[in-house]
Amino acid sequence: MILLSGGDIVLPDRVLGGGTLVLDGDRIVEVDRATRSPGGTDPHFDLRRHYILPGFIDVHVHGVEGIDALDGGDAIGRLAERLPRFGVTAFCPTSIACAPPALRVMLSAVRAARTSAPAGARVLPAHLESNFISAEYRGAQPLECIRTPRAAGRQGDFSGDQILAEIAAARPDVGIVTLASELEGALDLIRDLTAQGHHVSLGHSAATYEQAMAGFDAGARQATHLFNRMPPLGHRAPGLAGAALEHDDVIAELICDGVHVHPAMVRVALSAKQPSGVMAITDGTAGSGLPPGTRTLLGGRPITVRDTARLDDGTIAGSVLTMDRAFAKLVTVMGLGLVDAATICATTAARALRLQGFGAIAPGAAADLVVLDADFGVVHTFVAGSPVWSRPRR
Ligand SMILES: [Zn+2]
Repeated sequence: MILLSGGDIVLPDRVLGGGTLVLDGDRIVEVDRATRSPGGTDPHFDLRRHYILPGFIDVHVHGVEGIDALDGGDAIGRLAERLPRFGVTAFCPTSIACAPPALRVMLSAVRAARTSAPAGARVLPAHLESNFISAEYRGAQPLECIRTPRAAGRQGDFSGDQILAEIAAARPDVGIVTLASELEGALDLIRDLTAQGHHVSLGHSAATYEQAMAGFDAGARQATHLFNRMPPLGHRAPGLAGAALEHDDVIAELICDGVHVHPAMVRVALSAKQPSGVMAITDGTAGSGLPPGTRTLLGGRPITVRDTARLDDGTIAGSVLTMDRAFAKLVTVMGLGLVDAATICATTAARALRLQGFGAIAPGAAADLVVLDADFGVVHTFVAGSPVWSRPRR
């Protein structure tokens, strides 16, 4: 057993001040209202003046610290090793639109990491920012890789069907597929993908309100980085943003760095959807965690760390956000309480992905936890009851 005592424990409905968590194996077995003193031989963490939260779950992260999910080799395992220092206990490795061989390499690396369970964050099924997106709203995604769903034959070097064949060959390792519902054949594709157990998220899309609602009716249940890479919310033309805000069954990803979405619009989204309808994502890249000026890659495309990650022409290319900073911004800039911020950084994503027993601190839940200091710096990250990262003592 491991005792985590004296911290402010962020439960799903309240903060328990000065309580104790008891971990046994990979589970939380007890939430005690009292601070327990060390005794016996059980490892004991004195966490007075610290916060204990459910570990962060990032469903949209391309990379961190010089590693990109599409780098090949053991990139996915190395991401899993690095992310706990930012409080992440589970993540969906995220691709950008790419050619079939690159997708195959990444999905087999996801498979390998999920089978071998490297020490670090849990590797969840991948998130594909797929080839089936709007050319106009592609952002930093390569135009030459964008396809129309089910268009007959090859378009350029490869066909959309070849991408779908890669997805079919790696079904259990493909979690979320981002696509644009206004494209020809997209509604049938949404029906097919959801019938096969994938989560479809609408994004990188020019969809009108009606086209977005048709996508949700076909089975899409998420919106990819709400407000970014979609037409702006307009009072006569609500678009995908308006549809996602309105639809009760749709969960919205939100990049909570204060750059991609103005803090006021974060609050607007939260009042429309409540914390249970929003999940904080980083959209982080290999530039995350690296100093300004650093050159690195996003899906093989050169990017530079500036105010965020940018292509050479200045186009925003993902972010340099990490989940610990997203949590801190939600509290300090957006003005949220700890319970709501933890819901947005952990609980909603677990529910969206149907990860039972994850994303909340409760007896019987997985012991995936992050411990923060009073300034929201990450001190310890636990995955399955083991401390996988601890800040070096200063
Ligand atoms: Zn994107």
